[in-house]
Amino acid sequence: MNGLTERDILTFGAVADTFFASVPGPNGFWTQSASDLGLLPRFRRLLSSLDDQTTSDLHDALKLLSSRGGGLLMYQRPARFTDLSGDARREALLRMARSPLLAARQLYGTLKQLTTALLATASPGAKRGPLWAAMGYPEPPPAPAPEMNSDVLRLTQLKRTTTLSCDVVVVGSGYTGLMGALTLARGGRDVLLLEAESIGYGASSRNGGQVGSGNQRFTVKQLTDLYGRDKARALILEGIAALDYVKSFIADENIECHLRVNGRFRGASRPEHYENMARDLEDLQDVGGVEAQMVQRGEQTDEIGSELYHGGMVLPCDASVHPALYVRGLS
Ligand SMILES: Cc1cc2nc3c(=O)[nH]c(=O)nc-3n(C[C@H](O)[C@H](O)[C@H](O)COP(=O)(O)OP(=O)(O)OC[C@H]3O[C@@H](n4cnc5c(N)ncnc54)[C@H](O)[C@@H]3O)c2cc1C
Repeated sequence: MNGLTERDILTFGAVADTFFASVPGPNGFWTQSASDLGLLPRFRRLLSSLDDQTTSDLHDALKLLSSRGGGLLMYQRPARFTDLSGDARREALLRMARSPLLAARQLYGTLKQLTTALLATASPGAKRGPLWAAMGYPEPPPAPAPEMNSDVLRLTQLKRTTTLSCDVVVVGSGYTGLMGALTLARGGRDVLLLEAESIGYGASSRNGGQVGSGNQRFTVKQLTDLYGRDKARALILEGIAALDYVKSFIADENIECHLRVNGRFRGASRPEHYENMARDLEDLQDVGGVEAQMVQRGEQTDEIGSELYHGGMVLPCDASVHPALYVRGLS
């Protein structure tokens, strides 16, 4: 079996419309489902570029969701995904995400990634991202001329084995390498920055652009259990200082990278998440004086125009940047 059947494509469309369902709201963005955003034609175009093995794997995976036996295995309901109601589809995907069966969790991850990637990326040659209009994003400004910052970074392409001399070699031109090289060069060192691809090729130019103090992956309690109270406190304070530093660095250096201090909302997807966040916030304020507040479910519409979450935490000092423009500014 090489190609996908129409039923496979319908099943994928139903899954994508469950991940990106139409949700009524004041600002219009979430009212558009995956189908409204043109996902299926993009999926069909993608299929024509996949190799036979990948297509066949995708067919086998989608076939599981379009049979009663597959439904029983994947989400414990002997029903095709497309025959389920909207709520039951959501429940089925959640069951797959939490399933003890590795294959079910993997299929959930693959379908979610595929849907998100198809929605977030434009087709080859397109000048506009498919989500821009729905987000009210006009378009990025033209990139500054490359020579703009060339007084700092001089580029040389190394095509063969070469001997170079310098004080310090920095490997990798992401945020870490660029900031390290800049600091060393400004401190009078002769710095050689090596990059295997192009400047900022890695995560630094392609991330979500959220600038925060970093206190998300671990709670204060987890950090304290791991490293002890003093080190946990030092790490949290370092994060808070880093947030202030990035904002003032961008302003001082006049880096055009769409810096906006628009704050961040961290939504609680379950009631117990809200309680955990509230407890962690008390610890954060106690240990490091992090500026944030909890917002209950009834009040979150004022923050995000949605009642989807069980409340959440607002971090008013968090910011966002255009990651690739920040890389360009650093270089
Ligand atoms: C999808 C995604 C979203 C993210 N969103 C956010 C966010 O919203 N906010 C946030 O703060 N962080 C975010 N991050 C994390 C953030 O992007 C990274 O922490 C950060 O970019 C790491 O920077 P870096 O310089 O250490 O690494 P990188 O940016 O990955 O740079 C490493 C560089 O080294 C080069 N390299 C590797 N090996 C060699 C070699 N042997 N020789 C020469 N060059 C080499 C690579 O080509 C690359 O250019 C996100 C990450 C991802 C993947």
